[in-house]
Amino acid sequence: MPLLSQPLWKHFFGLFILGGLIIAVAGCGGPMASINADDATVAETSESDTTAESETKTTQKSTIRLPRKRYELNMDSSPFNKLTEAEAYVILNKGTEPPGDGGYTLTKDPGTYICKRCNTPLYHAKDKFISHCGWPSFDDEIKDAVKRLRDADGRRIEIVCANCGGHLGHVFHGERLTPKNERHCVNSISMKFIPEGKEMPKPIKATDVKKKEDAMKSEKAANPKATDAK
Ligand SMILES: [Zn+2]
Repeated sequence: MPLLSQPLWKHFFGLFILGGLIIAVAGCGGPMASINADDATVAETSESDTTAESETKTTQKSTIRLPRKRYELNMDSSPFNKLTEAEAYVILNKGTEPPGDGGYTLTKDPGTYICKRCNTPLYHAKDKFISHCGWPSFDDEIKDAVKRLRDADGRRIEIVCANCGGHLGHVFHGERLTPKNERHCVNSISMKFIPEGKEMPKPIKATDVKKKEDAMKSEKAANPKATDAK
């Protein structure tokens, strides 16, 4: 009889995945979910709704394979910037990149961090600090750029782009890491860095997007065959 039967292998593999998940979640009070190297397989995603306004229920035990088609359809129909699948997972579905993986965790260059989805300026580099939590950290946001919501877990404060509702991360108070005593724990993948002196892309206003979407809906209602044939 082999030393490790197939079921036992599966058991260890399950423990390995679970252990990795616990490490990711435990990291400095970071966001709840993680995404692994294969963008299609994620753990702890929200159930179905992709809007910031809706309450999303977070499942903590199951590993869910994302339905790729649904995200491609969502991205293609949005007048906001087109997102990759990994970006859509974090920004639209409140996922989290693994700690230390994001490109902006340790950056210090002067400039501005803008929303990946809508180009709205979110954070100045001068407000960034190294918190060693594994994600980019800021102790202040650009005025009115970030909206705070009660997280689905009932205890943390989620932060989203005030314009497009894209998920950014979470904000924490009272850690005494900087004089402002606040830490915006933000996924690198939710932002784009614009170095000082470089031209900023024009923000895509949510109100303009709604107008475009309404126009697309009207056009489709008036002539469904023409739009479906594409
Ligand atoms: Zn945005």
